[in-house]
Amino acid sequence: MNFIVVGVIAPIAYFLIRMLVKRLVQNFILNAKKNSKVAEVQECQKCGVFKSIDDLTEKDNTFICKNNCSK
Ligand SMILES: [Zn+2]
Repeated sequence: MNFIVVGVIAPIAYFLIRMLVKRLVQNFILNAKKNSKVAEVQECQKCGVFKSIDDLTEKDNTFICKNNCSK
């Protein structure tokens, strides 16, 4: 009797846990992406203005305004 219960429940439990872990990992990755997007503000090395990364170009690990740089 116990063997049957284990034989049926174990695969189901394994499947459910795998699904749950997959969802958790996907949520975690999604949140990490969201958070990193919010944090993507960098200082222009020429004029010192902080701007979103979309308005900056990266050059030699520094950021410079794409347009309208004050200097
Ligand atoms: Zn600038």
